[in-house]
Amino acid sequence: MLDRLIINLNNRLVGWRRIRGLRPSEILLLLPHCLHRQSCPRNVVHSLDECRRCGDCSVGALAGIRDEFGVVACVVGGGREALVQVRNPAIKAVVAVACDKELVQGIRAAFPKPVLAVPNQTPEGPCKNTLADPAEVVKAIGLLTRT
Ligand code: SF4
Repeated sequence: MLDRLIINLNNRLVGWRRIRGLRPSEILLLLPHCLHRQSCPRNVVHSLDECRRCGDCSVGALAGIRDEFGVVACVVGGGREALVQVRNPAIKAVVAVACDKELVQGIRAAFPKPVLAVPNQTPEGPCKNTLADPAEVVKAIGLLTRT
């Protein structure tokens, strides 16, 4: 509950920072490993290109967003891996999908780099076959690229 309040406040603050006109290559779309359907044999942590877009999990749609908008995107196994990607100097802002707790930790760790946080859904419980709303991700990318 408190985490969700922090996330909502953070997203508003990022909006108020009036970040505009970022190039897609300056935006990192960070995806948690738990979005990947556990029964899928594709190694999407190695590369999103491994995804066959079968539609059984959210990764396919998010890989499509990466291709459509040209943002940098990766699936990470944890916070440390995510921070390595976030600290890339070419990255100016982050759109992060994760659970509330990890999003709050990530927002804090990435500061002052702006992070637009998109909470995932957990129909099968935490950390397993989670879902992300592609429309929320597109909205966040749009906020960073608007001119
Ligand atoms: S969309 Fe299909 S191929 Fe892609 S990661 Fe999900 S289950 Fe695997």
